[in-house]
Amino acid sequence: MKKIIIAIDGFSSCGKSTLAKQLAKELNYVFIDTGAMYRAITLFFLRNNIDTNNTEQINNALKNISLTFKYNIQKGSSDMYLNNENVELQIRDMPVTQNVSLVSTIKEVREFAVAQQQQMGKEKGIVMDGRDIGTTVFPDAELKIFVTSNIDVRVDRRYKELVITNPTITKEAIKENLLERDRIDSSRAVSPLKKADDAIELDNSFITREEQLAIALQWAKEKMNEE
Ligand code: C5P
Repeated sequence: MKKIIIAIDGFSSCGKSTLAKQLAKELNYVFIDTGAMYRAITLFFLRNNIDTNNTEQINNALKNISLTFKYNIQKGSSDMYLNNENVELQIRDMPVTQNVSLVSTIKEVREFAVAQQQQMGKEKGIVMDGRDIGTTVFPDAELKIFVTSNIDVRVDRRYKELVITNPTITKEAIKENLLERDRIDSSRAVSPLKKADDAIELDNSFITREEQLAIALQWAKEKMNEE
């Protein structure tokens, strides 16, 4: 079977990472969560008060950012490291979540992240999830999946995750943030979120994780068996 690239894109909190992680595990592929990279860059910008309108400050900041993924055996997945610091928890917090889409509109930021993502996929055997993987990062990916899900289902799923660490969070605040990120991600000038023409849509609103995995695995195996 040949090694392929699997690109998974879609709106916020549609379960892209869950699917990408499951697929990578089944196929023994590398999983890359590109959202974590944009989140880590945003954390650095917030900590260093980078003015997102100042290109010189942005370029200098990017020179001082090193992003790496390190496998966490206990979790069975990789953690995001920013300049050798494990920032997995901080990048999921509200300050980063509220600013990441704005930082992700910046051309220099995208070029910085995309170059690293393309490098990571050079050997194939990779499942990468994000917003522009099938359109910009790997336009030639063998399998492109565009995940969609009903907005109320997305809010409920995200609420269950976040309320554990943040008991005061409300569903209204989550819904507002998801819709705002989707709006910014879909309307930005540089590689906006959109379904690639050759992507297959997977609506997971009313199917289980296991059912979703079975569907995607079938698609992946078909592509891996193609000449
Ligand atoms: O996937 P996640 O929700 O963690 O991504 C956080 C944010 O990073 C998205 O809302 C989007 O603004 C940005 N992003 C992006 N391109 C990607 C992945 C994420 O612009 N490939």
